[in-house]
Amino acid sequence: MIPVTKPYLPKKEKVFKLLDGVWARNWLTNNGPLVQEFERRLKSHLKLENLVYVNNGTMALQLAIKALDLKGEIITTPFSYVATTSSIVWEGCKPVFVDIDKQTLNIDPNKIEKSITDKTSAILATHCFGNACDINAIDNIAKKHNLKVIYDAAHCFNTLYKGVSVFGFGDISITSLHATKLMHSVEGGIVFSENLNVLKRLNYMRNFGHDGFENFNGVGINGKNSEFHSAMGLCVLEDIDQISSKRKQQSEFYDELFAGLNIEKQKMQEKCSYNHAYYPVLFSNEKVLLRVKKALEDNMISPRRYFYPSLSSLDYVTKTATPISDSCASRILCLPLYHELTLEQQKLISRIIISVV
Ligand SMILES: *Cc1c(COP(=O)(O)O)cnc(C)c1O
Repeated sequence: MIPVTKPYLPKKEKVFKLLDGVWARNWLTNNGPLVQEFERRLKSHLKLENLVYVNNGTMALQLAIKALDLKGEIITTPFSYVATTSSIVWEGCKPVFVDIDKQTLNIDPNKIEKSITDKTSAILATHCFGNACDINAIDNIAKKHNLKVIYDAAHCFNTLYKGVSVFGFGDISITSLHATKLMHSVEGGIVFSENLNVLKRLNYMRNFGHDGFENFNGVGINGKNSEFHSAMGLCVLEDIDQISSKRKQQSEFYDELFAGLNIEKQKMQEKCSYNHAYYPVLFSNEKVLLRVKKALEDNMISPRRYFYPSLSSLDYVTKTATPISDSCASRILCLPLYHELTLEQQKLISRIIISVV
């Protein structure tokens, strides 16, 4: 079986060694030493001082919306994982979908202004598959209309924009450290903000609002993560450069195998240095995609339809026409890409796809 992705597993001995310390201290969660160490290592790896480690990426999104005190309408992309939209709805706001650019697969900044109303409070955009949005354009629109910006950078570990981590942009950026992501701590998420007041709020919020044992600073929730997750995170982070360069090699090998074939690839945003987290391909139409998917599945290979369906078709949102997102969603497939995927397996995958297309 070749799945679309497999979680990266660091050396067991390394993780267990850290867990010995957990046993010795009998300190399992609540901002323990491994959580603190993991945050320090993340800061130095990403060269970003202002971040808060939380229990998952969805919690990070919800905390972001809460910490910025967003109300009313939030402009967002229909082409993302469902958590981007569900977090908006969960926080009592209304998602307003703006269609994507058919090449970058990110929200199309040229279409944002038409959708701004007097109820709009923010833009929540996803850097899809690790490809940075047109950040300049989005930030300019936000400034002009006095809107907040949140970037869902769940796919972006090691993505750079203008030479620095893409996590440093927007009022808040969030990422996910879920097991299936390039960098992971089994479950986990990070919230980034260069606004220190917002960061302080986030710090209280992730721990029930606790300000000491008996004082509370505002309403909070349980967004903490544990020593166990941090132990895994620390060990995966040690290997992240190897993981990244392997991904790049594998992606370039797919590029070679598919050279000349009638498939479209996502176009990278200018000034974005891509992290090769995913290998999405767009076929000419849904029929071809379904034939390819079937042929792969017949050979025990499971690609995934990321992202399908387009989020504007969810039954709990206001229906909006997003033809480009719908079209991309119907034609896109993410091919298997993970650390242990072999060249032979990649060749097999490409042979099957080429024979159908
Ligand atoms: C994975 C993902 C999330 C959710 O992160 P979790 O850590 O799984 O909660 C949010 N947005 C996008 C775009 C994602 O891919």
